[in-house]
Amino acid sequence: EFEWTGALYDKLKTVFGFDSFRSCQESICNANLDRRDIVAIMPTGGGKSLGYQLPALLTPGCTLVISPLLALIADQVMHLHEAGVDAVMLTGATSKEEQNRIYQRLQAMANGTPGAPDIKLCYVTPEKIANSKKFKAALDKLHRVHKLARFVIDEAHCVSQQGHDFRPDYQKLNVLRELWPGVPFLALSATCPAAVLGDLLRTLGMRRPTHAQAVDETVIFSTSLYRKNLHYAVLPKPSSGTGSIEKMRDYILTHHRNDTGIVYCLTRKDCESVAEDLMRLSDGAIRTGVYHADVADAKKEALHRQWREGKVKVVCATIAFGLGIDKGDVRFVVHHSLSKSLDGFYQESGRAGRDGKDADCVLYYRTQDAMRIASLTCNERGGQDKALAMLAFASDLEECRKIQFAQYFNKSSKMSLSFFRTEEEDANTRCGHCDNCMRAPDTLERLGVRTRVAAW
Ligand code: ADP
Ligand code: MG
Ligand code: ZN
Repeated sequence: EFEWTGALYDKLKTVFGFDSFRSCQESICNANLDRRDIVAIMPTGGGKSLGYQLPALLTPGCTLVISPLLALIADQVMHLHEAGVDAVMLTGATSKEEQNRIYQRLQAMANGTPGAPDIKLCYVTPEKIANSKKFKAALDKLHRVHKLARFVIDEAHCVSQQGHDFRPDYQKLNVLRELWPGVPFLALSATCPAAVLGDLLRTLGMRRPTHAQAVDETVIFSTSLYRKNLHYAVLPKPSSGTGSIEKMRDYILTHHRNDTGIVYCLTRKDCESVAEDLMRLSDGAIRTGVYHADVADAKKEALHRQWREGKVKVVCATIAFGLGIDKGDVRFVVHHSLSKSLDGFYQESGRAGRDGKDADCVLYYRTQDAMRIASLTCNERGGQDKALAMLAFASDLEECRKIQFAQYFNKSSKMSLSFFRTEEEDANTRCGHCDNCMRAPDTLERLGVRTRVAAW
């Protein structure tokens, strides 16, 4: 309970019409109202906006929001107006008259003109900060009278050249802290690997977090990487070649007949033979295509198109099938073999269910495959450790898959970065719908692991 908790819940309901907070939202609001620097990493659609829109209503002055795209800004401002929030935008598309009106209002705020209501949220594109002297002067005046409440940097990974969406104008945001010291930051992103986060903290001039969690340190919120619409399972894989394909065929025809899917294979040769066998052993019911580095570009493009259009349902692929693959309705990703690392497995299986609907992520595993990846990774730096983590995942028949991922990713991110504050509950409660959560308890108790696999 904080002094603002009552008001926070009141506005949540009366302004935004929500009864409860989603994961991390309340903590972000609290840290925000405590004037901390914050980085919040949550998946797309997770509800990041509320983390500053709500505090803006409970803070005197104006919250400045920097966002990369006009369309995103216009959409947000429209929703805020519908909710009765006093929000404005200053972009290249704003008319001269509207601009003048906004500058007059900012001036009135700075002067403390009686009866002039505060602009609660002001949205701009980063060019405004980089290029507009007039706008900078307006911020100077607000800052002097402590009416610059906070800076919000949406899609903050755009700051980093190592990110996938680098925008040069974002680098000019380094002036924010220099010109207007003492204004708290909230940086938001859905994708922020450790290297990008490092760039972000450095460019914006935010303090690096340490384990000490001192009051002037940046607080980092990161909700679970785990996506609840993905259902993970490891299934036993028969030793004989066609035996394993028959298993896969039965799985696909039973659970995903006519669905779009991907079958990841370890090698190019595997792709060819798995595709051919799946087609043959299903009498053509499973329409497959092959995608790997040796396939000619024109053929790759054609396959990708057929797959998008639904003419080919299942692509048998190596990890070359990845970049730019963003089809929403992938209902299943099957791994015919272990991936070389758990990171890889997470990435590859994560191509399922981008539309938010239920999807299956299935790994077929037999101990011989462990030898295979061991020999493939033994010459790569750190390769064996990565392979071991993959192996541990595949052979663990008790711990929830979500918890296994959370433990793995928390550990590896700690190595490169000081700390993540993940919601406890998020990381440690069982998902309730993976293979290990759903397994009948009597197959687990008293039995050795080997017997368990056999019984399965
Ligand atoms: P993000 O920026 O993280 O992608 P948004 O802030 O745009 O996500 O929010 C995504 C959607 O979730 C919006 O439609 C928003 O109204 C809704 N939303 C956010 N918070 C809540 C909540 N606590 N309860 C219900 N819906 C919410
Ligand atoms: Mg957003
Ligand atoms: Zn689980």
